[in-house]
Order: sequence, then C-alpha cells, then structure tokens
Amino acid sequence: MSMSLEDSLKKYFGFNSFRPFQKDIVSSLMAGHDTVGILPTGAGKSLCYQLPAIISKGVCVVISPLIALMQDQVMALQKQGINATFVNSSQDAFEVDYIMYNVTEFPLLYIAPERFGNDRFFQQLQKIPVSYFIIDEAHCISQWGHSFRPNYRQLRLLKDYFPDVPIGAFTATATPDVKQDIIDQLNLNQPTVVTSSFDRPNLLIKINEKQNGIKQIEECIKRYPNESGIIYAATRKEVDTICEKLGKSNYKVDKYHAGLSDDYRQKSQTKFINDDVDILVATVAFGMGINKPDVRFVIHLNMPKNMEQYYQEIGRAGRDGLPSECVLLYSIRDLILQKRMLNDIESKTIQSAMRRKTEQMFALCDSVACRRVELLSYFGETYTPSNCSQCDNCISPSKMIDGTIISQKILSAVYRLHQRFGINYVIDVLHGSKNKMLLRNRHNQLSTYGILKELPSVAIRHYIFALINQGYLTVSEGDYPLLKLTHKSRDILFDKQNIQFKDQVFKEPKSKKSAVKMAFTMDYSHDLLTKLKALRKDIANEAGVPPYIIFHDKPLIEMAAKCPKTDDEFLDINGVGPQKLTLYGVPFLRCIKEHQSMTVS
Ligand code: ADP
Ligand code: MG
Repeated sequence: MSMSLEDSLKKYFGFNSFRPFQKDIVSSLMAGHDTVGILPTGAGKSLCYQLPAIISKGVCVVISPLIALMQDQVMALQKQGINATFVNSSQDAFEVDYIMYNVTEFPLLYIAPERFGNDRFFQQLQKIPVSYFIIDEAHCISQWGHSFRPNYRQLRLLKDYFPDVPIGAFTATATPDVKQDIIDQLNLNQPTVVTSSFDRPNLLIKINEKQNGIKQIEECIKRYPNESGIIYAATRKEVDTICEKLGKSNYKVDKYHAGLSDDYRQKSQTKFINDDVDILVATVAFGMGINKPDVRFVIHLNMPKNMEQYYQEIGRAGRDGLPSECVLLYSIRDLILQKRMLNDIESKTIQSAMRRKTEQMFALCDSVACRRVELLSYFGETYTPSNCSQCDNCISPSKMIDGTIISQKILSAVYRLHQRFGINYVIDVLHGSKNKMLLRNRHNQLSTYGILKELPSVAIRHYIFALINQGYLTVSEGDYPLLKLTHKSRDILFDKQNIQFKDQVFKEPKSKKSAVKMAFTMDYSHDLLTKLKALRKDIANEAGVPPYIIFHDKPLIEMAAKCPKTDDEFLDINGVGPQKLTLYGVPFLRCIKEHQSMTVS
C-alpha cells in the first residue's frame, strides 16, 4: 500500500500539512503533466518538486542558477536524510564523472545551467532514468525577467531530447510576459499553471520620508534584539558609516559591498547566515542566493529603482512565515538621482520605460493608500480587503490637508529667489534661518523670509517634495540642483488652485503597538526559546552548517510553547520528521526538561 501524500510530507519533511497550492503542484507533476508554479518567495516551491522526486522512481534533475542556493538545498535535504547531490563548476571532471556514474542512488540531482551547453551532457543524461526536469528560478530563461541568463536558453532542447519527462518550472516573478516566455521557451506541453497571490501577509510594510536615517533605523531594529536583519544603503560610503555607527551602539553588525575584498564579503555573509552577526549593512549587491529564512527586517535607506526590485528585496524578509518588518526610507533626492542616471541610457524607449518605473516606485512611496493594494496592483493583482492592517497607511492613516496657502508661500519664495537656489536654501528662507550666506545675500529682507517659521524644516521639506512630485516645482539638472517653477506653478500662485497634501511626517508611527500586535500569537517561554536557540547554534557549529538547517525558528517557538516530553510529542511539532527526531530529539528534549525542572522548583 502506498502512503498518502500527507504521510510522505511528514515522513520526509516533518511538516504536518501542505501549504496552499503545494499539493496541486505535487499531484500535477506526479500525474506526468508539465507544471508551472508561480508562487511568491517563501511560499515553499522547493517542496513542490522535492516531494515528487523522493516518492517517484528515477532521478529528478533540478536546474538551479546559483551554486550557493544549490549547496544550501542539498545540505538541508541531507540533514533530512534525503540523498541529494549536485554537479557544478566547483567540482573537477573526476568528481563529476563519479557522481554521474552513481547518479541513480540520488533521487535529486542539482545542476547548474552551464552543463547544458554541450550535447555530450544531454547524451550522458539520456543514459539515466530521469523522473522530472525541474527549472528553478525559471524567470532566468526570459529576457523580460529581471535576471536573464543566456545559459537557460539551452534548456529549450530538453523537450526535444526528453519528450516524455515532465518538466516543472518555478518562479516568483509574476508578470504575464515572463510566464508566457517560460512556457514558450521550454516548449511545455499544455502545462498546468498554478499561480497564487503575491501577497506576503507576514510582512509589515512601512514607507517613510527619510529624516534622521540612523534614528529611524534604530526605531525599527531595537524591537528585534538578537534577530537577523538587512539594511540596504545606496553607496559604499553610506554602508561604512551606518555599519560603524551601529557597531558603536553595540549591535552585532557587519557590512557587504563591492569595495570589500572577496574574502571579507564571503566572511561577512557567512557570519550573517550562521547568526554570528545579527545585522548586515549592504549595497544591493548582497542578497542573491541568500536563503536565510529568519530575516526579521529589511530596511532600505534609499528608494529602489523600481517596484520589481523593491518587491524582490523585501521578499528576503520573513521567508519562514513569521512576522517581519520592511521599512523603506525615501527622499525626493532618490528620484532625482535615479532619473539622472537614466540619462546615460542610449535607447530612448528603454529610458522612458525605466523612468516610468522609477516614477511608479516614487508614487508608491508618496501614496496615502494601503501599500498592499498599491504594490499588488502593480503586479496585476487586486487585493480586496480595504484595510490590510499590516502597513503604515492602514495602521495610522494619513489625513489629507489643504496645502494651498503653504504652497503659495513656498512658490513665492522660489520666485523671489529668482529660481537660483536649492531646496535647503529655500527652506532656510521660509523657516527664517540665520544662515550666514542667507544674511550676506540679504535674503532676510525678502517678504517671504520666515513666512513658514511655525513649521519645522522637515515639514517644509516634505511639502516641497510634494510640490515637486505633483509637478508644481521642478529641480534643475547638474551638480547643484536648483528649485524651479513650472508652467503649473501659475495655477497655484495666481489662480489659487487648491492643492492637497499628505499630513503624515511629523507624528511618530505607532510602531510599538503594531510590533506587539505582530508578535507571534503562541504563548511561549522566552527563556526557553533562548536556550533552544543556543542549543541549535552549538549543534550547527559542530556540524558546520547554518543554524536554520538544523531547525527553523518556527519549530523552536512551537517547542517552547508546547514543551514536548516524549518522542511522540516531539514528532508532533510542525517541522520535525523522523530523521530530525533521531538526530536531535535527545538534546532538545533534555533541554526542555531541564528548563522545566528549573522553573518549577
Ligand atoms: P520558495 O522557493 O518558494 O521561496 P522555499 O522552498 O525556500 O520557498 O520554502 C520556504 C520555507 O518554507 C522553507 O524553509 C520550507 O522549509 C518551508 N515550508 C515549505 N513547505 C512547508 C509546509 N508545508 N509547512 C511548513 N513549512 C514549509
Ligand atoms: Mg526557491
């Protein structure tokens, strides 16, 4: 008698139930259909092919673009008692031949796409019983995708050589053109296409104007003591500065950017993955191939270039499904700088397409609407709840205020200054600053001097940004951008047109409260969790693997809540299968028992 899929899931992976869509995909592949799985990061795509691979006869060949990811997956599978292996450029010909010779012992064989560059390899493959071909990160095959890999194009030959082997293709890129490209390029045969929502409900999304970067960072990170997080900055210099400042405040922090040696970067990445440092400050060069499931926050100190990039980067938070936070701090400078960089692009069509994407990104930042509604609608999805309760705009809605008078004052100041000064100077004039240059220029004698002195300068800045964004002001090109009036400025100055502003900047977001609300609902002992994490770290160090390969945070939290006493109770924990019971049951049960005897007496 064969086991049910649920029984196999528990036996091999230790999970108590399938996540949404997993079973559909597993069943489709096992029924021999080509299958495309389009699910967001963290949804559990790997399991969708790993389970069929283990249950079915033959070797499942998985094509995966990144060596690091490949090794990580193989390591995790081996710890679950599943015989997986890989072939990639880190091995010599002898090793590769050895693996290929013994390949039938492995239900899963991971391969880098480069291998498919020669016919010899296809012929070699034809000698082995292939159960499925799996293309992970399948968007790499599409030129529309954000990381096109020419090597992936060779995979179109798979159907010619192996017409009878089902192909599974997986990606977290949702756009329709990428999906169609995957189906066409791989020549899939009436594939089952499984697509889920791209919402990541466990992510708290916050977007704020950048004021005092470091304070705003600390506001977030201090709520996640001893937890992992990534801080993205735009420049190497900023990475260095932030890393140093946080280090001085005793955070366990390291950095990663292209100006550091390979060796340094390798080490800081490993420290991050192994929980030897908590926070990694990095440029966007960091993150590809990082599979760390327990990243609790991702902070952006600059606006990403487009929504695709933003979605991908925040996607690195909370892959384990536990509550995690994404904070984006932006300023209009980001928009200006990014548009300026686009000027170098030769093709006018591409340039304007990219400009549009950057503007859409800025529009998200500047919006008062639910972040989820906006973000998901960009990817063509309608998010129906009217209040997601997990974004800044839903938690503390911004009022719109009438900004007509304020705007008139700002625009008059720009006019009186003959449009020859930058934002900071205009703010100084409006605020009534005693700045030396201003006094020397006698701008304290202007009628607009101090005309907005009741407002803090951050507020004035916010309104100027809003005017730029709505097209009532513009910023000149060049090294010293000057504020300029536009043809629309007249509407406000002379025709008294009304203008609405978002009134959000000056109240602190009530994030304390939301953090509590976000807290994991299970009631557990924090002391015990700390002990379990320490035990996990010891075991991981000894085995030379990252702690998350031993157990994710989620099962540890469940252990700290349920305090299992017996093997059976331990096995009930979601994420504990027979193999992990055998390997780790004794030390973890002992740790729980000792903790209880200490707290009871
Ligand atoms: P994706 O490739 O879709 O980004 P992964 O395959 O890396 O996601 O899975 C994300 C995490 O979810 C993994 O750490 C995995 O252990 C966990 N996971 C997958 N399926 C289940 C399940 N049915 N129950 C609990 N956790 C699961
Ligand atoms: Mg994946």
